[in-house]
Amino acid sequence: MIWDSIVIMTFVDMFIICLTVVAFWHFYQDRQVLKHLNVFSGLALVLGGLFVIASVYLLDIVAMHLMPRFMPLEKAMAFMKTLHLNYSWILFTFGVLLIVASIVYLNKTIFPKIISMELELKKLAATDSLTQAYNRTKFDEVIRQEIERAKRYNSLLSIIMFDIDNFKNVNDRYGHLAGDYVLKTIARLTKANIRETDYLIRWGGEEFMLILPETGLEKSQELALRIKRKISEFAFDSVGEVTVSFGVTQFKSEDSEDEFIKRADDSLYRAKENGRNRVEVMV
Ligand code: GH3
Ligand code: MG
Ligand code: MG
Repeated sequence: MIWDSIVIMTFVDMFIICLTVVAFWHFYQDRQVLKHLNVFSGLALVLGGLFVIASVYLLDIVAMHLMPRFMPLEKAMAFMKTLHLNYSWILFTFGVLLIVASIVYLNKTIFPKIISMELELKKLAATDSLTQAYNRTKFDEVIRQEIERAKRYNSLLSIIMFDIDNFKNVNDRYGHLAGDYVLKTIARLTKANIRETDYLIRWGGEEFMLILPETGLEKSQELALRIKRKISEFAFDSVGEVTVSFGVTQFKSEDSEDEFIKRADDSLYRAKENGRNRVEVMV
């Protein structure tokens, strides 16, 4: 009789161990939660897990107190002994399984939502609402990072600053809404011509900046010319033709961030001085 129950319990235990291993494996394979755990949520999870396991033993203590009220003490002791021999391992494993299952559940349902909301918020905080280009906050972050990278790996890095020509006339003649439409369209046309790894930033009113990692002066100039052509060839609703001036420069290892940006600004100024609707390059 005892042997029978031991054999049965061993099988049940093995089954539960297998389930736990499968649950852990699933968790390991799809461990989004791990990437987004911080110290506090990690601690809360561990404490929560310990609490679940402890509660199994708490139940045990409560049972030890209650049972003698309903049956003789020896009988209760014998019952608990059998229970411990055969079932405490199951209860413990069940506790662990419960924790793993809830983590897997959270990982599949709530965490992805929280993560996508977090990403959405981050994107909103970095984006200009009119043009959907990045804003200055994002520029500050990216330019620092890219300058560091260019210095460390001796890699190429260029920027293009560009500004719509006589944009004030567009607003004055066709209204502010038409001006907004031109700004949005220029951002869209620009985005369609850059790489995934490039950044388009709305620098100010009708001024934009492109950060081009792994790109030298020649390629940047070609890109500026291409964007200039795409914009000038585009027929803007009611406004017609719009032109843009560009200033291009490449990062030099001795440059400070300000010097680098100033050179792009100076070359844009030169493009304006030299008649607009043109690309100027400064080494
Ligand atoms: P330039 O060729 O020298 O660049 O001349 P410009 O007229 O483009 O330059 P200016 O700096 O005199 O005018 C910029 C205008 O851009 C003035 C401002 O009203 C307009 N502007 C800035 N931000 C926005 C915006 O978000 N929407 C609209 N519609 N206009 C804007
Ligand atoms: Mg302008
Ligand atoms: Mg301007």
